[in-house]
Amino acid sequence: MSHLPVIVALGGLVAGLWMRVLVVRHSVAEGEPLRCDCARCGAPLPSGRRLARVRPATAKPREPEVRIGLSPAAKSRELAKRIGPSPAAKRREPEVWIGPLSPAGRREPWTWIRALPAARCPGCHGRVGPPPLAVEIVTALALAALVLCAVPSTWPGAVTAGRWAGRAVEAGPTGELAAYGWLAVVAAALVFVDAAVHRLPDELTLAAYLGTAVLLTAAALLEGRFDDLVRAGLGGLALAFFYLVLFLINPAGMGLGDVKLAASLGTALGWLGWDVLVAGAFLGFLAGGLYGVVLMVLRRAGRKSEIPFGPFMVAGAFAAILTGL
Ligand SMILES: [Zn+2]
Repeated sequence: MSHLPVIVALGGLVAGLWMRVLVVRHSVAEGEPLRCDCARCGAPLPSGRRLARVRPATAKPREPEVRIGLSPAAKSRELAKRIGPSPAAKRREPEVWIGPLSPAGRREPWTWIRALPAARCPGCHGRVGPPPLAVEIVTALALAALVLCAVPSTWPGAVTAGRWAGRAVEAGPTGELAAYGWLAVVAAALVFVDAAVHRLPDELTLAAYLGTAVLLTAAALLEGRFDDLVRAGLGGLALAFFYLVLFLINPAGMGLGDVKLAASLGTALGWLGWDVLVAGAFLGFLAGGLYGVVLMVLRRAGRKSEIPFGPFMVAGAFAAILTGL
């Protein structure tokens, strides 16, 4: 049992790798298609192939003169022989193709699994996505913290932190832990996307809500905790409604993505109790407000500057969940 946090943290590293792919793909401006290749060199990013297969009509036909197996740089050299060198061709380095897919379309999973945590494009070695290992470490720490707080027997010199610690000691890891784990992993991706492009994509907020709702429903069915389930559902609606009112009062300060994220955070917080819901929401505003004040004091932001609010909502909610305030 004492190995459980370590095992879960390792699982979090793997989940973080997956989330990194989602973060890179979703870090695009509103209305743009998901990113499926490197903005600098055009090397397909992991899962770019699936997108290419979905949209064969829009894909450019492969030039028949170019030999299969050449890197983009070699391709452009071949082109340069015929139409003269382009200045951009000199800047595009890669001699050998080590991208996730060879130009022949062969799958090279280990290449991108090696390249991804370093946050470098396998084609041009330019920075892609959040800093190296950032997403992976956040998800691993979040999952380990959840297990440590939920199952204190895994904690050497255990402190029975949180209201749900006592219950979980007898029951072991339960359905609610799965729900919070899911929410933590998807919320980590949302936090990084929000920090990068100031928006919370619908696919991810929907995944966060559906996963949390389904897993909490399963926990309620297994453990007969229907009061908690009803409170969770109402909590999600209440927090989403609260954020919707804020959005309608001041559309510049809050986004509809924040409203959708509030639905899943409210559900998770409501499961633990109304006081936890209020504490989680309050801590989010406190953290976001303090950050805004610090930025203004440092003159890094003005009164009208937009700050991504999602990271603070998530931090506040998980602070309340972990401590069970
Ligand atoms: Zn690149």
